[in-house]
Amino acid sequence: MHSTAALSLQPPLKPPVTCSQGHSSNLILTTAEGGSICLLCLSVLLANPKSPTVHVSYALSQLSQAISQSQFIHSLLTFHSHFLISPLVFVLSNFDDEPIANQTIDLILRICDAAKSNSNEDVQMEFAARVSNWLSSGSLAWSRRQLYMLHCFGVLLDSQESKLYASIKDKDSLICNLITGLQLSSEVIQGEIMFVLYRLFLLHFIDMDDNCTDVFAACCPKLVRLPLEVLMKSESEDVWLNCVGVLPCIEFFFQFIFAF
Ligand SMILES: [Zn+2]
Repeated sequence: MHSTAALSLQPPLKPPVTCSQGHSSNLILTTAEGGSICLLCLSVLLANPKSPTVHVSYALSQLSQAISQSQFIHSLLTFHSHFLISPLVFVLSNFDDEPIANQTIDLILRICDAAKSNSNEDVQMEFAARVSNWLSSGSLAWSRRQLYMLHCFGVLLDSQESKLYASIKDKDSLICNLITGLQLSSEVIQGEIMFVLYRLFLLHFIDMDDNCTDVFAACCPKLVRLPLEVLMKSESEDVWLNCVGVLPCIEFFFQFIFAF
């Protein structure tokens, strides 16, 4: 059990040589309160779908407090900047728990912001790559965990960082899955998909990736028809707003590519 092994609540007089699981001290970061977090224990806890949600939530809240401390976030980004990326994304796929998903997305954004302020954009790119891999695989079907993953992706893309577009490895599958989701999923997921499509179109205009132009062009009829259908059927204001955002982008996009 790694519930409290990840987080030492008793402030040590000096930094521990190992954690309670015997992991090396170079993976243990101390906090301003005198406690410590073993990154390996924390990763094991977050990546295990059988971890009790109360332990996961507690660990995330402790990490949230710790990364607000300049020394802790400095050490994390200097020595272990990519260590928590995969475990944090696993949390979104492992637990059907909205508060935990919100905690995780908040943490991901704060880590990305801190990394960017250190001129390290690779962290956000890797988060976007891993989240888009989940969405491209379609393995979460149209569950609420897929909703959390979509929301995280939309928020990551919202930074308008053009390099993010290049970090998406399988754009074909991603866009095909998003289009499938517009036909099959709930209204809430459709709203998230519309927002993601909107951000993808905007990033595409910046990046002008020829490969993705082909992907979008291949999906042209559905990309035009489905958002209109969602717009007409939906009773959600959020979905309407996302539709109104994406429809002009789709129209402009196809006018542009079919003009050549
Ligand atoms: Zn440990």
